[in-house]
Amino acid sequence: MTLINRIVWIRLQKKMKRPKFHVKKNDLVMVIAGKEKGKTGKVLTVLTKKNRVIVEKVNFIKRHTRPSAKNRQGGIIVKEGSIHISNVMLLCNKCNKPTRVGKKFLEDGKKVRVCKKCGEIFPN
Ligand SMILES: [Zn+2]
Repeated sequence: MTLINRIVWIRLQKKMKRPKFHVKKNDLVMVIAGKEKGKTGKVLTVLTKKNRVIVEKVNFIKRHTRPSAKNRQGGIIVKEGSIHISNVMLLCNKCNKPTRVGKKFLEDGKKVRVCKKCGEIFPN
């Protein structure tokens, strides 16, 4: 990479704002695509840089671990693997359906997320 290329690259990186995701930690979501389609769970982690989320009890993966101080035996542990953020939708507890999220400003100027179907406000 030449120096000029690098400068352009850095400028581009600065221009790109951090993407805003429609789901956040502790949201209840439904998986809408992939092999885990139809499952619901709570968002445990949002991996911002990878555009992926880890959803409780969804997409279990097996990991082989080596013995360590914590886990003396090592072996296989089963834990949730990440799924792409576009494969999940926020679950509205009023409609009881996966929904698209809209934005709304409250009277005090606070921005909140709302259910596009019923207008239910999701906590931010
Ligand atoms: Zn709703």
